[in-house]
Amino acid sequence: MKESDLLAIVEEFGSPTYVYDAEKITSQYERLTNAFQTVPKLKLHYAVKALSNLSILKLMKSLGAGLDTVSIQEVQLGLAAGFDAEDIMYTPNGVSLQEIERAAQLGVKINIDNLSILEQFGSKHPTIPVCIRINPHVMAGGNHNISVGHIDSKFGISIHQIPHVLRIVELTGMHINGIHMHTGSDILDIDVFLYASEILFKTAKNFKKLDFIDFGSGFKVPYKKDDIQTNIEELGEKLSVRFNDFCQEYGKELSLNFEPGKFLVSEAGYFLAEVNVVKQTTSTVFAGIDSGFNHLIRPMLYNSYHHIENISNPNGRERYYSVVGYICETDTFGNNRRISEIREGDILKFNNAGAYCFSMASNYNSRYRPAEVLWYNNEAHLIRKRETFDDILKNQVEIDLSTKKKKKTISKAV
Ligand SMILES: *Cc1c(COP(=O)(O)O)cnc(C)c1O
Repeated sequence: MKESDLLAIVEEFGSPTYVYDAEKITSQYERLTNAFQTVPKLKLHYAVKALSNLSILKLMKSLGAGLDTVSIQEVQLGLAAGFDAEDIMYTPNGVSLQEIERAAQLGVKINIDNLSILEQFGSKHPTIPVCIRINPHVMAGGNHNISVGHIDSKFGISIHQIPHVLRIVELTGMHINGIHMHTGSDILDIDVFLYASEILFKTAKNFKKLDFIDFGSGFKVPYKKDDIQTNIEELGEKLSVRFNDFCQEYGKELSLNFEPGKFLVSEAGYFLAEVNVVKQTTSTVFAGIDSGFNHLIRPMLYNSYHHIENISNPNGRERYYSVVGYICETDTFGNNRRISEIREGDILKFNNAGAYCFSMASNYNSRYRPAEVLWYNNEAHLIRKRETFDDILKNQVEIDLSTKKKKKTISKAV
C-alpha cells in the first residue's frame, strides 16, 4: 500500500481509522503454508481474537484457513462468516461447562484445558471427541505477561497430570482427537519450540485415536526495521521433518495445526490518526492525536512498540516527539520518537496495527470506536463504520429519578 492510498482513506472515511492490507495477510498466509509444504496435512486456524472483523474472517476462509476461537461469540462470528463448524476450533480458558456444551452442539472442535471440565464433559458426552490443551512448561519469549507455558500459568493441563487425564479417558470412555499447546507470544528460539514439540509428541503417544496435533502460535513479527522475528522457514524445515517422522511412528497421517493470529495480521494493519495539537513544554514536544488507549491500548498494556510516521509530511525535518492521546490519563503511544516535522492536522501512521488493536478498543471517555477499512484489489472497502452517539447510548436503561422516595412505615408487631 502506498502512503497516498492511506491519506486518501482518511480523506474519505475520516480519522481515526484502521486499515488492513489484504495482500499482506495473503502473503503471510502463504509464507507459513510454504514453510510446511512437505507436511501432507497442514491446517492453519486463524486466531479470531487478534482481529475479528467479519470481512477479515471471510478473507481467511478464502485463503483456506479455519478458525481458532476463545469464546462462544467468536464461534458464532465464524459461523456467520460462513465457516463450516468442523473448521472451527474452540479453545477457551476458564469458561463454564454450559458454554462448552453450546459450542459442542454447534459442531465445532472442542479443546479442554483443565481436568475438572474434562471429567464433567467426558462423563456427560463420551461420544463427542475433544482435544486437550497441554502445558509443556516451556517458556517462550521472556516477557511474563505473554508467556503462558510456564509452571504457574493458568493455561493448559500440566504434562505432570497426564496420568490423571488417562484415568479420566479410561473411566468415561471419551475420545481424545487432538493434542494442543499454545505457549504464548513471541517465539524467538526455534530450539525451545522444538523442545516443547517433543513433549507434545511424547504426550501424543498416550492417545491412540488422534486426528491432529496443534502447535498453537506465538510467532514473533518484526516491529522495527531489522527487528528480530521468528524464522518461520527454519521452523518449517525442522518441525516438518520431525512431524512426518512422528506420524510414521504413530502409524497415521495426522494433521499439523497452527493457530496464528499476530503473524497473519499484525503487519497488515495501519492505524491512522490526526494530530490535534502540537504542544511544546519546557522539556518535550508532544503531538496529541485524536485517539488514545481507547483505540490502541497495546503500548500502555504491554509496553509494545508501534512505529509511527508522519505521512502528511514524509520529507520534513526530523524532530523528537512524544506522541500522546486525548484520554484523560497518561496515554503515551511513543516517547522521544524521531518523526518528520509534525504540524497540527497531519496524519500519523502507526504500524503493526492489525493484531490486538481494534479488537481491544473500547468506548472509554465515551469516544466512538474507529472505522475499519480493508484494502483489497487496490481498492478501499469500508468494513466497519465509525460508531455514532447512538452506540454510546445503546443498551443504557434510563430510570425515572423524579418520584420522591416514600417514607418507609414501620409496622409494629402486635
Ligand atoms: C491468542 C491465541 C493464539 C494466537 O496467538 P498469536 O500470538 O496472535 O499468534 C493462538 N492460540 C490460542 C489458544 C490463543 O489464545
